[in-house]
Amino acid sequence: MTTPMQTCPECEDEVRISQAARLNEIVECAGCRNELEVVALNPTVLALAPEVEEDWGE
Ligand SMILES: [Zn+2]
Repeated sequence: MTTPMQTCPECEDEVRISQAARLNEIVECAGCRNELEVVALNPTVLALAPEVEEDWGE
């Protein structure tokens, strides 16, 4: 069985991916707090998710 661990492209910390992870799922790196997007499966490939401004000016 392959371990569902991937390396963060930003800080190279290990990121745990759920075995039920789906394409485009967002996971947060515990090391750098960046959001990582699952861009490919089998093998799983992570990429930095584009930053989303959550300030809607409310
Ligand atoms: Zn990281």
